Amino acid sequence: MGADRVVVAGGGIAGLGSALALARCGRQVVVLERDRLPYQGSAEEAFAGERPGATQMHQTHGFLARIVVLMRERFPDLLAALLDAGCSTISGTAALGDPLPGDEDLSILIVRRSTFEWVLRRAVADEPGVELRSVAGVAGLLGRETPDGSRKVVDGVKLEGGGEVRGDVVVAATGRRGEVPGWLAPLGVSVPETVRPSGLMYLTRWYRSTDPVAMPLGPKAGGDLGYLKFLVVPGDGATVSATIAISAEDRELRRVLSDPERFDHACRALPGPDEWFSTLDLEPIGGVRPMGGLINRIRTFTDADGAPIVSNFHAVGDAHTCTNPLYGRGCSLAMVQAVLLPTPWTRTTTSPRPLRPTRRRAPNRWPPGTTTRSSSTARGPTPRRARRSTRATGTG
Ligand SMILES: Cc1cc2nc3c(=O)[nH]c(=O)nc-3n(C[C@H](O)[C@H](O)[C@H](O)COP(=O)(O)OP(=O)(O)OC[C@H]3O[C@@H](n4cnc5c(N)ncnc54)[C@H](O)[C@@H]3O)c2cc1C
Repeated sequence: MGADRVVVAGGGIAGLGSALALARCGRQVVVLERDRLPYQGSAEEAFAGERPGATQMHQTHGFLARIVVLMRERFPDLLAALLDAGCSTISGTAALGDPLPGDEDLSILIVRRSTFEWVLRRAVADEPGVELRSVAGVAGLLGRETPDGSRKVVDGVKLEGGGEVRGDVVVAATGRRGEVPGWLAPLGVSVPETVRPSGLMYLTRWYRSTDPVAMPLGPKAGGDLGYLKFLVVPGDGATVSATIAISAEDRELRRVLSDPERFDHACRALPGPDEWFSTLDLEPIGGVRPMGGLINRIRTFTDADGAPIVSNFHAVGDAHTCTNPLYGRGCSLAMVQAVLLPTPWTRTTTSPRPLRPTRRRAPNRWPPGTTTRSSSTARGPTPRRARRSTRATGTG
């Protein structure tokens, strides 16, 4: 691998994960994050803070088995630090009958998104070879054409407010709102993207259980009434978040559910959440947080032959692929992409290798508006799949 200094634009999950993966392969990494990230001494301080650049931080997040396995294999110290910080893992299959080989790889991480990012940021800050800068927005890329005109090469970034940071490789981890195509356009590089709106918006409220010991994951956590979807997810620190996802067009329902009392009332009436609200003594933390603009989007950074359309540049996380949040894949995918970065730059494209196929599949629950469908997920369920499909997976 020929690159020594890597500039990572964006210090969310993908940027921090990239920094960790790259630094542990001997790279010098500078992470440039636009948000002000003051020192936070605890998970509660991190939860109380705001992240204007990643407003989904206070939305319900489920952390799928994929990210647990990845950390177990690649960053066991990070997983240990999360557990030390009060997170836990629970079996994703315990309620599905006798254990099968491989079930140990299907644990879900119980953690707030804010805690996950906080622990990850601390791990990255402790990493020799990483410099973390906040209030350091990236305005665009520095690049050139090779003398023979055959390639466009990125070699640094321009900072908002002036200044440059040079690097052998630039990683864009600027999230769902990142301006990646706009950054590459002045170099003459066009990035095709496919966008499918999910059509949904999230309304989320947080609660804290006064009795942490009684925090179960027994009751059904999610469901779909057609006109609304709902889920309840426990977090660390005896927290629980409830999300009601509605049509982005349904202004009347949004208005009603934005009222905290009515939101709670709805949760107490929904099958599944009703058990959480009746079993646990839940005290609200703040009001109802809405979030829209939830899209599926994939950007293509390779040409028809699979060759990179620009050299020394990679996009990871939502800046590369943004998925419907109901499926709870975003953070796992971001980390999968991050750990692929240190593969030899000459071979690396911005598209990660496909994940290994698994003999188990999540229930077929593609959202309206999504065109791709796996033929294998369209098959009828096996008896055990049928049992599995009655549960919510991820946050969906
Ligand atoms: C409502 C909602 C619910 C979700 N639920 C789940 C879930 O249950 N499970 C799951 O795994 N995923 C979920 N996701 C997806 C998940 O949040 C994202 O996939 C994940 O955060 C992607 O990480 P990222 O680093 O690419 O982007 P982000 O975490 O958004 O980080 C991007 C960072 O880049 C910074 N930045 C942006 N522009 C610049 C710039 N020009 N210069 C410097 N810094 C910049 C931002 O400030 C931010 O810190 C959800 C998303 C939403 C919207």
